This record gives sequence, C-alpha cells and structure tokens, in this order.
Amino acid sequence: MSKSFINEVQSRRTFAIISHPDAGKTTLTEKLLLFGGAIRDAGTVKGKKTGKYATSDWMEIEKQRGISVTSSVMQFDYDDARVNILDTPGHQDFSEDTYRTLMAVDSAVMIIDSAKGIEEQTLKLFKVCRLRGIPIFTFINKLDRDGRPPLELLAELEEVMGIESYPMNWPIGMGKEFLGIYDRFHNRIEQFRVDESERFIELNDEGEIEEDHPMKQNALYDQTLEEIMLLNEAGNEFSRKRIADGELTPVFFGSALTNFGVQTFLETYLQFAPSPQPRESTNGKIDPLSENFSGFIFKIQANMNPAHRDRIAFLRICSGKFERGMTVNLPRTGKQLKLAQSTQFMADDRSTVNEAVSGDIIGLYDTGTYQIGDTLTSGKDSFQYEKLPQFTPELFVRVTAKNVMKQKHFHKGIEQLVQEGAIQLYKTVKWEEILLGAVGQLQFEVFEHRMKNEYNVDVVLERQGSKIARWVENENINESLSSSRSLLVNDRYGNKVFLFENDFALRWFQEKNPDIKLYNPMDSS
Ligand code: GDP
Repeated sequence: MSKSFINEVQSRRTFAIISHPDAGKTTLTEKLLLFGGAIRDAGTVKGKKTGKYATSDWMEIEKQRGISVTSSVMQFDYDDARVNILDTPGHQDFSEDTYRTLMAVDSAVMIIDSAKGIEEQTLKLFKVCRLRGIPIFTFINKLDRDGRPPLELLAELEEVMGIESYPMNWPIGMGKEFLGIYDRFHNRIEQFRVDESERFIELNDEGEIEEDHPMKQNALYDQTLEEIMLLNEAGNEFSRKRIADGELTPVFFGSALTNFGVQTFLETYLQFAPSPQPRESTNGKIDPLSENFSGFIFKIQANMNPAHRDRIAFLRICSGKFERGMTVNLPRTGKQLKLAQSTQFMADDRSTVNEAVSGDIIGLYDTGTYQIGDTLTSGKDSFQYEKLPQFTPELFVRVTAKNVMKQKHFHKGIEQLVQEGAIQLYKTVKWEEILLGAVGQLQFEVFEHRMKNEYNVDVVLERQGSKIARWVENENINESLSSSRSLLVNDRYGNKVFLFENDFALRWFQEKNPDIKLYNPMDSS
C-alpha cells in the first residue's frame, strides 16, 4: 500500500453527534464547520426564527463552497484530519436509521445541556454506542447560562450512564459570571469574551496563574482551583487506552452559541479520536489499510417524493479505496455489481464522488439491489461484516390492508420493507395478527407511504402505543401467559417476545414468573 493511501486513511475521523433535541447539536456542528472552513460565517446559515437549518440552507452552503455539506454526511478538513460528521436525526425523524448510523462511526460526540443534564434521547443513543464500545467524547454546553454544578453533572454521567469521566477542562463560574475554562489538558486558562490576544493565560507548573493577573483576585478562580485539586486527588486518571475502549469519556465544557471552547474541543478531540479501526467479519478482522475495497450498507433512504423513486444506500467504507465505476461483489446474493453511480448526497444537487477511502461514507443509487447490513467486497474477497444488531422497538401498530383483495401485494410489500430494514415485523401467537414495530413514528409514516406508492396498497394502521419489548430465552412458553398487558408475539425469525404495556406490567410479570428469562438485546452485558 502506498504511503499516501495510509496517510489518507489515518487522517479520517468519522463520528456522529449524539444528543437530545435542543442541547445544541446544530449550533455545535455549525461552529465545527466554520473552523473547518466549510462555511464562511455562521450568520449565512442560521435558519429563520426556529434556529433550525432547512435542507435548502445546507444546499446553499454546498453551492457557495462547492463542497459536500449535507444533512446526512458533512465533510471538512482541519489541520491534517479529514472529518466526516454523520447526522443522527432526532425529534420526529428519529428511527432505526438513527441507531444504525452509529454502526458506521468510529467515535461519538455527546452533547449535554448543562442545565438539563442527561436526557432521554441522549441516553438511548449512548447505549447503542456502548454496545459497540466506541470512544465517546462529551461536550457540556451552554455554560454562558446558569446550569447545574459541574460535579453533579459528572456524577450523573457515572450513575445514569455508567461511564467514568475525565474533565479535560473545568468551568470558572457560569451564566453571567462565566469567566472561562481552566484547561487541565493544556495547563492554561481560556478566557471567555476577551480579545483574542488575551484569550489564553498560561499556568505555571503548579497549575496556577503567575502573580499579577487580575483573574487571581476573583473568588471564582479560587473555587475552581479547589475543585481542580479535588479532581486531581479523587477523580479518574487520564488514560488514552480507556478512552479508546469507550470506558472513560473526556469531558469538555463550553458554549457552542458563543463559540467558546469549541476550537479547543475540536483540536483535542482530533488528537484522541480514532482513525478507522479493524472490523469483524466472517473472515476475521479486516484491516482498514488493506488494499481491497470493502464496506457495508448501514442506511437506505427512500425518496418520499413520488417523482423520484430512486433510493440511496449509504455505504461505510471499511477497507481499500473506492473508485467510480469499479466492480464489486455482493456476497449475500453472489452477484457482481458495477458502482457507476455514486453520490455524495442530497436532493437535486448531488455531487459525484470519484474516490474515497476507509472511513468515508458514499451514497449509492439503489433500485432495490441492497439491503441494510449488506457487505460489498472487491477482488476475490467474499466475506460479510458482522450483522447489524436488532434494535428494540418501542412503538407498535397493528396493520391490515384496506382492501382485502390486495392481500398478495400487501404481504409482498411488508416482506420487502421488513427485509430492507425499514420496519420490524411481529405476529401475535394466537391469531397471527401482524404488528409492526419501530423506534420512531417516522418509520410508520415511511411504511404507509411506500406501501401506497411502491406496492399500490392502502394500509390501515391501528396504533398500539409504546410497549416494552423483551425477548424470551426459554424454549417453551405457555401461550396462555399472553394477555393484553403482556402480549406474546413472534419476531420474524420465530423468536418469542413479550410486549409489555408498561414498566409496571413488566415487573409484575417477572415477579409472577421468575423462571422465565427475559432480555433486551440492546442491553450490553
Ligand atoms: P439541536 O436541537 O440540538 O440541534 O439544538 P440547536 O443547536 O438548534 O440549539 C437549540 C437552542 O439552544 C437554540 O436556540 C440555540 O441557539 C441554543 N443554544 C445552543 N448552544 C447554546 C449555548 O452554548 N448557549 C446558549 N445560551 N444557547 C445555546
């Protein structure tokens, strides 16, 4: 392998930002893109009153710079790194694809609102990252506002998420009295809202300010020093290895909106975040530096616009180099394909990629060839990457065809959409009624839309609300245990699953039936 190829791969930093809506993901992303030179100034892309980007804003940026800034994958260069940020949609757009995106990254950045602490969606996404043991970097945001005491936030990380933390820096005050951060890692103080020339105060070997600086007179500085001493004595030790193993999260404080602490975060992050790592396959671990191209499909985006029936399959490159027009193998079917049409995403303005390496994401035009989880290989290679995990659905609907004469199309449509990974299929053990499971409401909407447009079937969806799904380890289960509060169903592989009405029903069931072993596939243990 040529040295330049090795350098290319090792320069890749592919990550996703995990957060709860409103924690500041959009704002932080924008600031990162600014540093990467991918956009010129923040004002140009700030969405109207809602503070959200519209798709068209991103496209506007693409036009301005002629680079790929899209809602799915954003790429920019900083120092010697090529950064790929993968979008993880939240709110109404939350779906299994959001989880699957985390299968394609090498690390994750977790944003926490300092006033709110850990929120529901952050926790869900965190758990998926945990399953893979990928490094997680934490950015505690909105320090320009009053928030919770930093020590309390770190304690919450350990208690709720079970991850140890190492604060790379520490706030000096907050809200109106926010003076900046004490940077343990660089042994300096970074001041908030001062001229660039005064931004940094270098600290001496004892980690303190030299004699005559005004900051020294401030009581908040003294308090920070005390807390730093406490961290030095009683806190976790810094460990590069434990960060890489996902056991220790480096924590950064800052304020994305005022662009404070973001550059320090980015630079430190790039130093410790991993480049593409070897990945498990049926042939053992595949080295990202190996010569042969390979990758897997982690997401398929159907076009909701009926004028464009095409889909895009998102492929994460895991080894070798992608070249447009290359021929690859699809081991699942044993077929060969020519990758003529590749794209770097987005609506009308898709730009064509000619070359990409391990760590990069490319979009492939799909006319129904690919399934989520498919591996593509090149040359004589014919292995498959590890299966993507099954994500525990939380929302369910009962589905039937409006027109009974359309049964054939109805079943064909469901089968294909389930295979493709758009939705999960369950059947009640008693009457074999069809239930669909999803992690986000959007999946049902996409399902309904595609059944009509692609299979010409109107479906009736009856909401069953949210359920707690638990798989059953035992081989034989007495079907009479099925009730409306603990509904017994088969998943599509014939495994038994109980759908509990709520947490109370789950606990009650476990107390009554201690011999039945239940588990959640998303719990890592
Ligand atoms: P997202 O939903 O996670 O993408 O969050 P946004 O980036 O859209 O931010 C949500 C709201 O929080 C917006 O009104 C932002 O202006 C605001 N916000 C983001 N970062 C900060 C920050 O550092 N300080 C303050 N005060 N507000 C912030």
